[in-house]
Amino acid sequence: MTQFETTAASVLARLRSLRDDDAPTHGGHVLSYVYDSGLAEIDELAAAAARLMQPVNGLDPTTFGSVAVLEGEVIDFARRLLGGDEGTVGSVTSGGTESCLLAVKTARDMWRANGGVGTPRIVAPTTVHAAFHKAAHYFGLHLDLVPVSARTGSVEVAQVVERLGPDAALVVISAPSYPFAALDPIGDVAAICAERGIGCHVDACIGGFALPFDDTLPAWDLRVPGVTSLSADLHKYGYAPKGASVLLHRSASTHHAQFFATSRWPGYPVVNATMLGSKSAAALAAAWAIIQVLGAAGFAELAARSRRATDALLETIDGIDGLTVVGAPVGPLFAVAADPSVPSGRRVDPHRFADAARRLGWLLQLQPGFAQDGGERLPATTHLTVTPVTESVLPELTAALVQAADSVRGLPAVDATDAMDALGGDVAAALDGPLPDQLAPLLALVEALPPEQVEGLLVRLIASVTTPR
Ligand SMILES: *Cc1c(COP(=O)(O)O)cnc(C)c1O
Repeated sequence: MTQFETTAASVLARLRSLRDDDAPTHGGHVLSYVYDSGLAEIDELAAAAARLMQPVNGLDPTTFGSVAVLEGEVIDFARRLLGGDEGTVGSVTSGGTESCLLAVKTARDMWRANGGVGTPRIVAPTTVHAAFHKAAHYFGLHLDLVPVSARTGSVEVAQVVERLGPDAALVVISAPSYPFAALDPIGDVAAICAERGIGCHVDACIGGFALPFDDTLPAWDLRVPGVTSLSADLHKYGYAPKGASVLLHRSASTHHAQFFATSRWPGYPVVNATMLGSKSAAALAAAWAIIQVLGAAGFAELAARSRRATDALLETIDGIDGLTVVGAPVGPLFAVAADPSVPSGRRVDPHRFADAARRLGWLLQLQPGFAQDGGERLPATTHLTVTPVTESVLPELTAALVQAADSVRGLPAVDATDAMDALGGDVAAALDGPLPDQLAPLLALVEALPPEQVEGLLVRLIASVTTPR
């Protein structure tokens, strides 16, 4: 009889108590990170499917044929929804970041196969997701950022075209962008990419399973000629547990460039579609099960709930003196900034606003103001991601947003020097303490300090969080 150190019951009790201290994943109080369908039966189904798949190794879809079937069916659902056809192929990855990394790796290898030499370039608006900064860093490409308009949050086609050249391996555009929910001019950009033989990736990580049900939008998916690949996250508006995204390619040859294969070692021949070796198929199974049960009609109904809640919240923000919505957001997300058209005494600083909402029990996401290279400064904002469950908490959320704005109206943005003084001048030492409950001062520092310094401090901060104590 194996001697166990403690009982399963007590381990799970401790886990439950740790989870109780987390931000709530359900109920709509966290307006980023979590995507709550509001349907408990969908979560139960996902858990059951993940449990069934738990022992499987997703590394080898020939040994575990279930993985091949599930992945094929998920890709088929995604390609139908996202304007693909029978020629559209792709992979299920572990998340948006992996889909973006692989889109870049694919484009780099295609560019090299077509004779490209030296360091290839990714051309993208400054609003492109940070995953592309990571991809450029990991895979040795230059990221060439095109400034966006501070008013619309979107990019001019001509400014993208100016940057194209023989070293441009990939243009990335978003549907929509994460920071401001702007829909980039995909049709025009993709057409020029097609003309010049440059890869064009649509990052629909956040919009992929929400935008297809909005028929007021211009085409933004694989229906657009010239789009060569597209990413869409199942663990966002696919309501799957974390660990699932799709990367679609217009052609099989591009998909093949996504793979890594080697027979140059004495072990088993390696053929990996994605970045990991051994990997879980649990999130794939959960995403697959949700797709089977919901179908396109179920997704449409959930998207409509998010849409109604988003429209109601946009109206709420519109009615709050001193706040304004940035640009013309598309899909179930948007950003708010201080309204520059009212006198400063009536303006609402978006970061103080977010901290005030947090004190009322609602977690909004603070985004720093941003100096664009060769472009306008982008305002500090607060980001809200809306999910189907938001509709059921609208009265409470609306009241909290109004109250939060009222409580900080007229206060200027936190000054970086004051924030520094509050930390006793030693940012690094202060960050070694417990996490602050006010984020506005932290964001003031993020805006004011050189990026290299901020990045170093943030790494120390987050590394210290997981250091055994
Ligand atoms: C979320 C997101 C990503 C990255 O996805 P993760 O799942 O967080 O790795 C990339 N692009 C956009 C537009 C996103 O919203």
